[in-house]
Amino acid sequence: MTANLATQASNPELSIVIPVYNEEDGLQALFDRLYPALDALASKRNLAYEVVFVNDGSKDRSAGILARQVELRPDVTRAVLFYSNFGQHMAIMAGFEYARGQYIITLDADLQNPPEEIDALTHELLNGHDYVGTIRADRRDSFFRKIASRAMNHLREKITRITMTDQGCMLRGYSRRIVDLVRQCDESNTFIPALGYTFSANPKEISVKHEERFAGESKYSLYQLIRLNFDLVTGFSVMPLQIFSILGMLLAMAAGSLFIHLLVRRFILGAEVEGVFTLFALTFFLIGVMLFGLGLLGEYIGRIYQQVRQRPRYVVQTVLEKK
Ligand code: UDP
Ligand code: MG
Repeated sequence: MTANLATQASNPELSIVIPVYNEEDGLQALFDRLYPALDALASKRNLAYEVVFVNDGSKDRSAGILARQVELRPDVTRAVLFYSNFGQHMAIMAGFEYARGQYIITLDADLQNPPEEIDALTHELLNGHDYVGTIRADRRDSFFRKIASRAMNHLREKITRITMTDQGCMLRGYSRRIVDLVRQCDESNTFIPALGYTFSANPKEISVKHEERFAGESKYSLYQLIRLNFDLVTGFSVMPLQIFSILGMLLAMAAGSLFIHLLVRRFILGAEVEGVFTLFALTFFLIGVMLFGLGLLGEYIGRIYQQVRQRPRYVVQTVLEKK
């Protein structure tokens, strides 16, 4: 493999950050498409690139495969290895720490984001947009994921000031300024595309292709998806808490009116014991609302607790790169 001259500079302009977690079956296919796409881009636009893989504590052979790739393309490849699994967003955060480019593009390792699209994102970044979001045309995920994701997009739109059409797509471009600001944020739970967006001055969205996962399964279980969405909600808005305060006030007023109504009936109609089951239903409903509110409060408090402990967000074992 002959590396393009432009790609050999030690100061790359374009950094591609890719989190990797148990992707042994798909990595080779990713390399086979990623490097030709980047080499073509580098000579077309005459800029140097680097790829920063972050192995998020994979338990399979991913780390070994990445190490071999660093040896094959040492001029443009670096791999950051974690000791254990810290999650996709922390892996990207570490990628940001080691990326040296003026333009940084994140990408999933499973080929759901076609590497050929990097060129379109680079184009927008070079045109002066400091944040390039993407919209997955014809998204290839399960029906459930698509519905849930649309609902979450909708909710986020209502309760935060972030306006992104498709928050979940990780194929995204950031300017150096935004990446530096994201790195300054010390949050232990975060959602990087949204965080980056809050700092953008000149964002742009483009439509990109989306493909089926090349190999393996999604690394997110339903539970983890719920956790991630709570990160998104709690990290960017306190409106859910305010909604609960208002709901509480409304319910208290309704209960007050009901009490007066019952009191008046007591004097007009005398003692009555009807509607016991209605009372049960109402009580259980209210207990449900209360538990949900308590849980929501817990989501915020749990995050505050994690934050005040100030444990390291991720621990880097080693960085594989050309010495
Ligand atoms: N990933 C990671 N750490 C994790 C989970 C996922 O680095 O704990 C990586 C994974 O290897 C992939 C990307 O994040 O490159 C997106 O994961 P996945 O494709 O499973 O998510 P989905 O596309 O189903 O949302
Ligand atoms: Mg995927």
